[in-house]
Amino acid sequence: MPLKYLLPEDQIPRYWYNIIPDLPSPPAPVLHPATFQPVKPEDLAPLFPMPIIEQEMSAQREVPIPEEVRAALARWRPSPLFRAHALEQKIGTRSRIYYKYEGVSPSGSHKPNTAVAQAFYNAQAGVRRLATETGAGQWGSSLAFAGQLFGLAVTVYMVKVSYEQKPYRRSMMRTWGAEVFASPTDLTNAGRGILAKDARSAGSLGIAISEAVEDAVSHEDTKYSLGSVLNHVCLHQTVVGLEAQAQMRLAGEYPDIVIGCHGGGSNFAGIAFPFARDKMNGQQVRLVAAEPTSCPTLTRGVYTYDFGDTAKMTPLMKMYTLGHDFMPPGIHAGGLRYHGASPLVSQLVASGLAEAVAYPQTACFEAALLFSRAEGILPAPESSHAIQAAIVEARRADAEGRERVILFNLSGHGHFDLGAYDQYLAGQLQDFDYPREAVEASMAGLPKVG
Ligand SMILES: *Cc1c(COP(=O)(O)O)cnc(C)c1O
Repeated sequence: MPLKYLLPEDQIPRYWYNIIPDLPSPPAPVLHPATFQPVKPEDLAPLFPMPIIEQEMSAQREVPIPEEVRAALARWRPSPLFRAHALEQKIGTRSRIYYKYEGVSPSGSHKPNTAVAQAFYNAQAGVRRLATETGAGQWGSSLAFAGQLFGLAVTVYMVKVSYEQKPYRRSMMRTWGAEVFASPTDLTNAGRGILAKDARSAGSLGIAISEAVEDAVSHEDTKYSLGSVLNHVCLHQTVVGLEAQAQMRLAGEYPDIVIGCHGGGSNFAGIAFPFARDKMNGQQVRLVAAEPTSCPTLTRGVYTYDFGDTAKMTPLMKMYTLGHDFMPPGIHAGGLRYHGASPLVSQLVASGLAEAVAYPQTACFEAALLFSRAEGILPAPESSHAIQAAIVEARRADAEGRERVILFNLSGHGHFDLGAYDQYLAGQLQDFDYPREAVEASMAGLPKVG
């Protein structure tokens, strides 16, 4: 009974899988925030270098990974795939549970997979500095790492509540040379606008995105970088699923169910899109995105055009959204507190190719402890939503007298989230249900597109 399935370094994927040409219908166009007309590549040029804009709109199914990026990925890839024998025993299931572990990367999550690619393309284009936002600090630290690898300065707008909850993520970004500000700041118009209305604002990803975008467009040598949601980010994350497919073949299995937690959609896309290709070719497989009940974008949001940020500076994307000024409660899975979702993941969910489920945070922490006591890895609070979904699926299969092969993406470790674990162990964590009034208020502000 092997425990882990490892691939040699030369089996890091040579291409990223682009799902766009395989989708049943083409993606809805991205719209300009001022005119509501489809954006042209040059509209995005103040934000991103051309190779990234091309990837955002690419119709090429297999996009070659540059050798410099593969060499950077080789520092931690291929990541291991484990069979969770001990977890299976602990929950007494007849199903077989596998997990792909992305916590082996330098910053401890899947996010460096795209950070190194984005830093590479920006450095090649002569960009000197990247501006970005971060929620829990995972993305900021990933980009800080990738930036110094390719010689770029990095400025991070960190959501204030996380800046205070996760001081060591801040430290990590600074050790890699990034400058870090608690957002909202008084350095941008977007930040000053929020502070004028609420001087004690705890911030949100939507606000921090506005600040980073403003910083990028107002500085000639600076571009913007986003850690999730966009097509090119999902593209870069497909190394996760491509490796997992090879590793499941080593295990002699094909999954019945593939699970990822869902914040902006990139780690779910990473593990699920290569399996979605099989599914669109007739393979039976369920793809499940797991999100928090306190920020239930896919399960309770509306599939419509919305802005990606609070100050309405980003292009409009058709996606599941809770409204661009929705302020999710300060739960500990900071990386899952985003009002929107990847347009590609949204399209899969809307078309029935993928499903979404939502769980409250205390159930997820319980699942995380069960997992860590069995498997020895302390998961990120975000990843615990995928663990919870896997356990629910295994128990359901047992109740139905079935055996399933379940694969989930363990998107990161929780070594910087010990404060949250302390609170959980002390019985101090509470659940926030679907925040109906807050969502309804925010929905009223959705843009009216044609
Ligand atoms: C950021 C993050 C997530 C959520 O982001 P996605 O874009 O939905 O993947 C999940 N897990 C971890 C560990 C993260 O850092």
